Amino acid sequence: MSKWVYSFGAGRNEGGAEMRNLLGGKGANLAEMAGIGLPVPPGFTLTTEVCTAFYENDRQYPADLPGQVRDALTHIEKAQGLTFGDAKKPLLVSVRSGARVSMPGMMDTVLNLGLNDQTVKGLAAMSGDQRFAWDSYRRFIQMYGGVVLGVEHHKFEEIMDHAKQDRGVTEDTQLTAEDWQRVVAASKDMIAAETGKPFPLDPEQQLWGAIGAVFGSWETPRAVTYRRLNDIPGDWGTAVNVQVMVFGNMGDDCATGVCFTRDPATGENMFYGEYLVNAQGEDVVAGIRTPQPMAKERSKPDEKPMETEMPVIYRQLLDVRSTLEKHYKDMQDMEFTVQRGKLYMLQTRNGKRTAAASLKIAIDMAKEGLIDQKEAVNRVNPSSLDQLLHPMLDPKAKRTLLAKGLPASPGAASGAIVLNADEAESRANKGEAVILVRIETSPEDIHGMHAAKGILTTRGGMTSHAAVVARGMGRPCVAGAGGIAVDYTAQTITAGGHVLHAGDTITLDGAAGEVYAGLVAMIDPTMSGDFATLMEWADANRRMKVRANAETVLDAETARKFGAEGIGLSRTEHMFFDPQRIGAVRQMIMASDAEGRRAALAKLLPFQREDFKDLFRIMDALPITIRLLDPPLHEFLPHGEAELAAVAKALGTDVAAMRRRGAELAEANPMLGLRGCRLGIVYPEIYEMQARAIFEAAVAVAKEGKTPIPEVEIPLIGTRKELEITRAQVDRVAKAVFAEAGRSVEYTVGTMIELPRAALTAGKIAEISDFFSFGTNDLTQTTFGFSRDDAGKFLPTFVEQGILPKDPFISLDVEGVGELMRFCVENGRKTKPDLSIGICGEHGGDPASIALCEELGLDYVSCSPYRVPVARLAAAQAALHGAGDRTV
Ligand code: ADP
Ligand code: MG
Ligand code: MG
Repeated sequence: MSKWVYSFGAGRNEGGAEMRNLLGGKGANLAEMAGIGLPVPPGFTLTTEVCTAFYENDRQYPADLPGQVRDALTHIEKAQGLTFGDAKKPLLVSVRSGARVSMPGMMDTVLNLGLNDQTVKGLAAMSGDQRFAWDSYRRFIQMYGGVVLGVEHHKFEEIMDHAKQDRGVTEDTQLTAEDWQRVVAASKDMIAAETGKPFPLDPEQQLWGAIGAVFGSWETPRAVTYRRLNDIPGDWGTAVNVQVMVFGNMGDDCATGVCFTRDPATGENMFYGEYLVNAQGEDVVAGIRTPQPMAKERSKPDEKPMETEMPVIYRQLLDVRSTLEKHYKDMQDMEFTVQRGKLYMLQTRNGKRTAAASLKIAIDMAKEGLIDQKEAVNRVNPSSLDQLLHPMLDPKAKRTLLAKGLPASPGAASGAIVLNADEAESRANKGEAVILVRIETSPEDIHGMHAAKGILTTRGGMTSHAAVVARGMGRPCVAGAGGIAVDYTAQTITAGGHVLHAGDTITLDGAAGEVYAGLVAMIDPTMSGDFATLMEWADANRRMKVRANAETVLDAETARKFGAEGIGLSRTEHMFFDPQRIGAVRQMIMASDAEGRRAALAKLLPFQREDFKDLFRIMDALPITIRLLDPPLHEFLPHGEAELAAVAKALGTDVAAMRRRGAELAEANPMLGLRGCRLGIVYPEIYEMQARAIFEAAVAVAKEGKTPIPEVEIPLIGTRKELEITRAQVDRVAKAVFAEAGRSVEYTVGTMIELPRAALTAGKIAEISDFFSFGTNDLTQTTFGFSRDDAGKFLPTFVEQGILPKDPFISLDVEGVGELMRFCVENGRKTKPDLSIGICGEHGGDPASIALCEELGLDYVSCSPYRVPVARLAAAQAALHGAGDRTV
């Protein structure tokens, strides 16, 4: 016989917190609280397995379920000295749903179940309060009618309004027992008319109706959608809790409330919460009456804190607070009810909190000795750090407000206005800071949102696509700024009399929901205090190093400030777009022969050398992986007439010749065309110039007494031979430069692994490669055969239909790309056991991907500078195998 029902309280405690999967979160914690001696009204839980069995068996309950329910009910009847359905001494219960994780879409709680025309009299007699009894009955009918029978809420409201009008009063509290009696009668009639069936008066029937409604709510479209969006498996099922009623609405010595053991906004170690005197259940959150604060310290002059109003109960709650924190070792969110001066606990769970609170609570609890440092490291969700790491607007900076919207995602950002996602991405790829401005966003815009520094929409709320995605990505976002008009055709935005064009700079304050014209000065986030402590503890527990992807001085400095241990990817082509250089770059591309190219490259050499000198100085004694030119040349091509003419003039030729050369360079599929090491092989002088710039810079900086550690990286290698040829070029140049300078610098030459063929022949490539670095953006693209630039058209559908669990460009595809990586690591290290291997794609800052890198034994991850702390924490958690249940 299977056990379907678990009792809690009244001396029969069959569950506990560790049984969450079986009993749901609410049921498991009710049992746990009862088990540690807290005052929990007794009850029982129908397990999640009942739910699963119900759906597997054509919506039929297991045959032995009713007997077990009866048995558990009898137990609490005896304990309470009350009987379910008894006219004199009726037992009343609440029926509450509770899945493993709390889930919107599940059935709302039904209170006061077991009332009918007879038992209401018993309740009146027992309580000595007619009004209370009839008020409870009408609440029950309304809840049951709404939640179980699906009658619309406003139909009940109308009946109540009539009752108040008849009396000439405005408040519920002014209605008498007789009024409630009439409301009860009218509500029952209305329900019968609406549903075509009389309101169920048999308590057994009421109970099974409510239980059925909970299990039924597991498959409502809302619940199904929520599960899909949150990766919650459908076969988890929900539990149902049936619990003896206690009443917070029996008079002024009664109350109900919700509280947190610490402040969920700041993390401050202070009792925080709200309560209402003489109220039931959801009255606190329903907003009909204004709840009062718990602590005196937190109350305003006109408020009535529980600390002074109900001091005895308050002290008991303080005890509960410390018992629960000591027991659960985490901040708790609890619900309680006071019935005639006696406290009852109705729920506890790990409390939801902001990123700032999460950090503070983890550090404080470790310092208090409640948890150890490793646990503190595991407690903070790495992705939430993003919120704490963004720059803020300098409060003293001058500014011109354009418009206000919703504070959809925190942080401040400045950049050029861009009105479509593709352009946002292409400009960001060239190193430009852009703000994506849209009327609203959709899944097709994800790549542009990712590329942008900030996102602004003029329509939509806090849960609009833009807001949700921006928060997920840690991008500052102002949503629904209705005062701004966007004109996609004219490429302008208009606000408060200002007209701004695409390309103009604006600044967003995502925490305040404000949009400013131009650039507003910012201040960096503080990385001292708790943040620094957490990072220190994380660093003490991680194995992998964390580097940053950086090529500008600013990025490199930011990276160091955030604790990067080197640069894992420096994209030299980003240095080509500078206005001072692009001319020479174009001459190099358009030149018809090697001679012409050399002349143009000679102009670029000093620029590149200076770039590298800066980086070597900033990253003194830390490694810098410098990738030689990677993208197809046409990305640098001149566009307009004037640009073409300028290049023609510099090369001593005409515009027509330039056009011909442009046509020669055009490629049908540039991503798979003449790029990466193929460029270095076809035009060796390009890599030679870059290698020279690197080594000349290294020698110069070494002469300053610093320690440059260059790692020259050849992109897009597919065969050993390609690396052999390009590596030989680099080594030759190194030798020459060192001979000229009369001193040498240690360096290594390695390759990016971004083609499946490279991964599959890693053993051979490792023979001549000093290091590997997974370029997982391209590796994902080439493994799937998905064009990164076009995947936005179908990937959202793929994820929605469950073809892929996640966007593989955001989180590594473990099954495919991950497997290639594993093969590559194994075979590379078979050839060269000490081969250094890292990752430098977007994935290097994604916690789930970082966990995979730890498992594969990579030496480091490299990510954008702002994500370095995220990666440090995620790497520590990966090493600790941490990251269990989190509440942020
Ligand atoms: P939710 O999951 O929405 O929080 P709950 O099951 O916790 O729903 O119920 C909501 C509220 O109903 C509780 O906070 C509590 O105030 C009230 N409640 C539930 N069960 C009881 C009970 N047995 N006695 C008194 N109040 C109850
Ligand atoms: Mg609750
Ligand atoms: Mg690449």
